[in-house]
Amino acid sequence: MREVFLLKFGELVLKGLNRLKFENRLVKLVKTRMYKYGTFEVYAKQSVLFVEPVECTDLEAAFDACRKIFGIVAVQRCAVCDKDIMVACKTAEEYLSDMLNEVKTFKVESRRSDKSFPMTSIQISQEIGGWLNDKFDHLSPKMDEPEMTVKVEVREKGIYISGKVYPGAGGLPNGSNGRGLLMLSGGIDSPVAGHMMAKRGLDLAAIHFFSYPYTSEEAKQKVLKLAEIMTDYTGKIPVFIVPFTEIQEAIRDNCFEDLFTVIMRRFMVRIADKLAQQQLCGCIITGESLGQVASQTMEALGVTNACSETPIFRPLIGMDKNEITIISRKIGTFETSILPYEDCCTVFTPKHPVTKPKMKKVLEEESRLDVDALVQRALDETYYIVVGE
Ligand code: ATP
Ligand code: MG
Repeated sequence: MREVFLLKFGELVLKGLNRLKFENRLVKLVKTRMYKYGTFEVYAKQSVLFVEPVECTDLEAAFDACRKIFGIVAVQRCAVCDKDIMVACKTAEEYLSDMLNEVKTFKVESRRSDKSFPMTSIQISQEIGGWLNDKFDHLSPKMDEPEMTVKVEVREKGIYISGKVYPGAGGLPNGSNGRGLLMLSGGIDSPVAGHMMAKRGLDLAAIHFFSYPYTSEEAKQKVLKLAEIMTDYTGKIPVFIVPFTEIQEAIRDNCFEDLFTVIMRRFMVRIADKLAQQQLCGCIITGESLGQVASQTMEALGVTNACSETPIFRPLIGMDKNEITIISRKIGTFETSILPYEDCCTVFTPKHPVTKPKMKKVLEEESRLDVDALVQRALDETYYIVVGE
């Protein structure tokens, strides 16, 4: 039996030229995502993307991957048959038998986009509904809230039959809103922040500050693993690894201890800003949430913002930890995030961090450092690893 995935996209942006661009972007995206599962024909028609397996070893996995593509609101797996109502009845019976055996009530909903088909949608529903009702003794039709709705669509190329519509990932296709640089630590928050912005149509690059030997090789591997998990939704991510040890030691040795975290974060943002410009990223993304820790007070965020020309997006700013955790579990990063490796943020943390830093005092402390040279050296030694290719 021939099977096809139908991916439906949202209507919001579908106007004029935009629509074509949107469709083309999605077709390209879906092709890239399907690549590892075999050969597929992918094309768009009437606000639907058709994904037809030509040669596929794992249909389940391929279908799952379709549910993780931003810009898609609903996903259906269908059997396709010839445009003959008897063939459609038999196909529905065979293709949906497992699902139909699990429920007691059902209805058939039909659509006919090929108007040359000689039956109305109501007649199609009645015919297929009647057939299924005869073949499965335990079933009874129910128009109002049935347990299962059989969807039938008569299209140009055939009749498409499916037993369930799954929600898609929603949002906007990756890249349709440009590119963002995610500050990725090993924690719970930053992968969620990146996921949320990717959902709004950003392509992601990531930057990770690495303080070897204060933080271990395993900590770095954990970050790469997190990025890799994210790529199920985001597509490939280049992860830029910035050696951060020299900067942290310089701050420790020269600056007032209680301002350590805020000064360190200002360095991170300076470097992220430069890299964002270099990599054509229009924003920096962090996993900060207001008041979560000392460095995430309004005052601390303000002092940190001042170091970047690139806008900083903080999608978690108004969220509670448990809300963030729910998303983290859903996108599959949680179990990796809670592995117990140090992040450079937890190295040299002061006992009494200043929660309302004053810019004047921060600048005074920083004047003891050669900020530009430290930033430049870190950037010179930065390298990247692409995950999710
Ligand atoms: P997370 O759970 O994402 O680690 P957190 O609650 O632990 O966040 P902080 O450690 O203060 O908070 O970090 C705040 C944000 O700064 C992180 O969400 C991340 O965006 C960024 N960040 C922290 N450490 C690093 C790092 N080593 N490399 C890159 N970005 C970092
Ligand atoms: Mg952290």
